[in-house]
Amino acid sequence: MEKKPSTYEEVNELFQLLSGIHDYQPSLGHDRWCWKGDKSGVYTVHKAKKMISENRTQVPINSSMKWKCWTPLKCKILVWRADINRLPTRAELLKRGVAFNDGSCAICNEDLETTTHLFTGCVFSDEIWARVGSWCRLSPIYAFEVKDLLKMAGTQMKTKKEKYILRGIIYTTMWSIWNERNARIFKGNSRKPIEVVEIVKSTAFLWIRHRSSLKGIDWNVWCKYLMDVM
Ligand SMILES: [Zn+2]
Repeated sequence: MEKKPSTYEEVNELFQLLSGIHDYQPSLGHDRWCWKGDKSGVYTVHKAKKMISENRTQVPINSSMKWKCWTPLKCKILVWRADINRLPTRAELLKRGVAFNDGSCAICNEDLETTTHLFTGCVFSDEIWARVGSWCRLSPIYAFEVKDLLKMAGTQMKTKKEKYILRGIIYTTMWSIWNERNARIFKGNSRKPIEVVEIVKSTAFLWIRHRSSLKGIDWNVWCKYLMDVM
């Protein structure tokens, strides 16, 4: 019996598989095995060990994302996949022949659900960014693509510490927008932007307390006087 993927994990796996096929560029000549760990393409145990010990991650050159951040790896990977346009949005699924609907945004239903739309063009995320901006007392946010969001910590903040804190808040906000989108599709739950911002605040608070040097930070100070902490 044919079964359509129904959970986020299933759709995500299907997307990864189809992306592999979609991005494959056939070339002339015989097929051969090739190890991507170094330029020679030849695998040796020694090289593999060296690679693991250096903990090298293969980050494509077209991502300028900064990985030094207090959010967990799963959140950073989400941001990175958004940056390199590898999230299973409805527009990307449609391109790969998976059609759940006409490809319109799961949140506003008005535009094609691309990564750019979801994080910067959607009225829903607009309101979230405006609220996060006023919480962090930022200048108005003008983001037209994911890369603009990733540059924000650098342009809006002066000190290293401020940039470090804001970067994590931006990543947590993107994480929360993506989770909201998934909750709507796969669980049928909808939250208001103001509720999502509360989740951003509490999630970021939990992460920064456990994963940075700001362990003693107080919840009220975090919510009301974040700029004084910075
Ligand atoms: Zn939308």
